[in-house]
Amino acid sequence: MSDSSVSNLVEKVREGELRLHELEDHADAETAVAARRQLIAADTDADLETVGEYALDAQQATESAIENMVGAAQIPMGIAGPVEVAGGAADGQFYLPLATTEGALLASVNRGCSVIASSGGADARVTKTGMTRAPVFRVSGIAEAQEVVSWVRDNRDALREAAESTTSHGELLDVDTYVVGDSVFLRFVYDPKDAMGMNMVTIATREASELVEEETPASLVALSGNLCTDKKPAAINAVEGRGRSVTADVTIPRETVEERLHTTPEAIEEANTRKNLIGSAKAGSLGFNAHAANVVAAAFLATGQDAAQVVEGSNAITTVEAREESLYASVSLASLEVGTVGGGTKLPTQSEALDVLGLGGGGDPAGSNADALAEIISVGALAGELSLLAALASRHLSSAHEDLGR
Ligand code: NAP
Repeated sequence: MSDSSVSNLVEKVREGELRLHELEDHADAETAVAARRQLIAADTDADLETVGEYALDAQQATESAIENMVGAAQIPMGIAGPVEVAGGAADGQFYLPLATTEGALLASVNRGCSVIASSGGADARVTKTGMTRAPVFRVSGIAEAQEVVSWVRDNRDALREAAESTTSHGELLDVDTYVVGDSVFLRFVYDPKDAMGMNMVTIATREASELVEEETPASLVALSGNLCTDKKPAAINAVEGRGRSVTADVTIPRETVEERLHTTPEAIEEANTRKNLIGSAKAGSLGFNAHAANVVAAAFLATGQDAAQVVEGSNAITTVEAREESLYASVSLASLEVGTVGGGTKLPTQSEALDVLGLGGGGDPAGSNADALAEIISVGALAGELSLLAALASRHLSSAHEDLGR
């Protein structure tokens, strides 16, 4: 990249010969990004020097991750753990990379990890896998709608064949049907293996939708009819799951709760019941947890997941039970959409973070790396829940002691 090639591009934009989004067609990616940055800096009076200091391969980033690139946003990355995970796919000690600007988050998750580690580790399992895309079709009325639903029911194999013709990894698991007046929604459910799968299943569903249009009176209106549901808070994800449904749990000895968390199993259970269950119910919340989104968002940013899917990825229920000599705690994330191939996972810092977990790329068998990532994130979320609930419970205890002790 030379200064003259950058100023040449800048000049062409100033003279109206090129538009900002066309620069990559006339120069290598790094030159295009530098020219765009220079133009924006001049027009807005912002100093974009730090934005321009990046270690990304601009060519790779502009090909699949970003348009109109001017540089990179940097987010500090830290490590929580190690924590022992006994999962269906993840097995061993893991350091969890988390990217955040929220001070105290890493310290809190780290404290939870350390308590889980000293209790022998957490169990975790992916209980359901299903990445969904739900196109909406127009029909003339309920009679035609029923005809389409019957055809879909009778032709699963043909739909599977059409959908799977577009991918060597994805598998069509199911097609759920929903009718509202003259609209028919077909919710296609796939096993995307190690991909988060949104591109994969959208392409596969387009192929299957063409078959539906050929064989029935249905006419496709939109390839996504919002019953998927992607990147919007939705009960269907909480109930049916999306991506991976995953649960982590741990049993912590009573003395560990007292010594390390400075509270009791009963106080943590009460904090969970009144805050996470009753408070969330009263608020009409979809999530019944303390701050699962904190860990999900930080893990997503670190490992190259689609950040907007934190909306449904953090849809979690935390349960806590004080047992005779221990505390049982669990976190169930209903719709955690994660992948270890594709999307942002290919970018350099994100793929290094996946390497910290030993989960870069496709797993053997396919799907096992994404399962393991989901399990480790769920244990991180459990650590975060325990730490925050304990902090709340111990404050309650100390104020109670103050009140009672005087
Ligand atoms: P992708 O970047 O499109 O790549 C996934 C592809 O990797 C798969 O389709 C598969 O190819 C291949 N692959 C190689 N090894 C694999 C393995 N072990 N398991 C599974 N697949 C493997 O990623 P994606 O996960 O489908 O989509 C993620 C991207 O979609 C993100 O960038 C996200 O931001 C974006 N997104 C798209 C939409 C949308 O509506 N299109 C919505 C939200 C987000 P084959 O299929 O050929 O086997």
